[in-house]
Amino acid sequence: MALCVFCGSSSGSSPVYAEAAAAFGRALARAGIDLVYGGGHVGLMGIVADAVLQAGGRVTGVIPAELVARELAHDGLTELHVVDTMHERKAMMAELSDGFVALPGGAGTLEELFEQWTWAQLGIHAKPCGVLNVGGYFDPLRTMVDRMVGHGFLASEYAAMLMFDDDANSLLERIRNFSAPPREWTATRPKP
Ligand code: AMP
Repeated sequence: MALCVFCGSSSGSSPVYAEAAAAFGRALARAGIDLVYGGGHVGLMGIVADAVLQAGGRVTGVIPAELVARELAHDGLTELHVVDTMHERKAMMAELSDGFVALPGGAGTLEELFEQWTWAQLGIHAKPCGVLNVGGYFDPLRTMVDRMVGHGFLASEYAAMLMFDDDANSLLERIRNFSAPPREWTATRPKP
């Protein structure tokens, strides 16, 4: 199994983020799950990758040529794909992965997570999407998701497809056990 991790190209303002990223990387390696990620050596991205490698796991990076210098492409990965565009990067990361997990990050992290979550809703793929809610960082996002449901912009079944968890091992277990909802959901979804 390979999981794609989206996370900050920064390390965040508290050491808890770096600690959680390293622990998540070790948990992946322990579980025998390969890491696929953006290929950089900066921020939480680099910390997760280093932790997986140090624990004996496999890491595949996918980075656009333009970002090789800016995100300091990691030169110790099991495999590094240098692609032409951001869109190619995201498509290849999605292709190589059996699921997606977001750790704390900024706009890029949310953009990547939301793309995969919305693709799951549309039935473009049937892969799980998880959010590691380190220190409550994603609580406002969870509130926003509830608000989308409450205000009639998101079916609760689709909200449930984004799995929030504050524990790495529990999240990995839920990801392993995930089975995609029936495709007919799209047909039964109430029309606005
Ligand atoms: P961030 O969470 O903003 O630190 O970004 C984390 C990762 O998302 C970095 O590797 C960015 O290159 C990547 N990313 C993907 N899509 C975007 C986007 N539309 N804007 C900014 N960063 C992006």
